[in-house]
Amino acid sequence: MFLSVPTMLLADSLTDVHRRRHLQVMREQPDAVAIQNLADSLAHRDDFAEEEYDPYANLDIYADWDDVSVDPLRGKTGWVIPDSQMISFRGYVMPIRGKVNSPYGWRRVRMHKGVDLKLVTGDSVRAAWDGCVRIRKNQGRRKGYGLYLVVRHPNGLETGYGHLSKQLVNKNDSVKAGQVIGLGGNTGRSSGPHLHLEFRFMGIALDPAELIDFNTFEPKQTHYLFRRKHAELVQEGLAGDGEAAYHRVRKGDTLGAIARKYHTSVERLCRLNKISARKTLRIGQRIRYK
Ligand SMILES: [Zn+2]
Repeated sequence: MFLSVPTMLLADSLTDVHRRRHLQVMREQPDAVAIQNLADSLAHRDDFAEEEYDPYANLDIYADWDDVSVDPLRGKTGWVIPDSQMISFRGYVMPIRGKVNSPYGWRRVRMHKGVDLKLVTGDSVRAAWDGCVRIRKNQGRRKGYGLYLVVRHPNGLETGYGHLSKQLVNKNDSVKAGQVIGLGGNTGRSSGPHLHLEFRFMGIALDPAELIDFNTFEPKQTHYLFRRKHAELVQEGLAGDGEAAYHRVRKGDTLGAIARKYHTSVERLCRLNKISARKTLRIGQRIRYK
């Protein structure tokens, strides 16, 4: 957790609840492209049944292999993220059956790109699918993910496991679904033992709540239709902003002051308005804050 407890509770009870509701509404809305893609897929199911459900269908989606960054595309050019991609959830094993401490989503000052699952230090953390360990690193005692692992899977997803007390596999190791790859802990920027679990497709962090039912710990679908536009909005924390709100700039306004007024952050204002933090504001300009 990144905020002090009282702030967290406040943020949780107001903005997060609101945001989750919006995300829910978003999710329930049909997406024309997705429906068309799904219709196409279903129409060709007989032809492509094997491929469509093959957990190894996206084995070759990544062109290279290194442990530079959790986002494997970061700082690289020449990658094309497909508009949509079918991802098999066959063979999924829940890494830890723990209560959701903190969901994916906007946390006032930054996006939380995974889900926090409660555990007891030393609990077994398992690989979600067969795969290969791409990253084994330590971000430091009080920093980031602490001891963490990233595993690349043949279905095209990568899973990240943060705040471990011990890593039990090495970089480049092959792992099996359900294999114990680490022990849960409280390393890094963490205020209590938990697993920070991420699901990424080509670097884009997906909302685990769209993928997994955290009551049963089972995947919500046998295959998940990744949609780039939707996923990018979700990752930027903008998917829920059906009701945008704007501030009209007055004399003396700064991004900092506007951020404070609306209980948000300069970073978020910049993201929402696609501007840099150093941008000079014009009087009368509209700044989106929600
Ligand atoms: Zn987390």
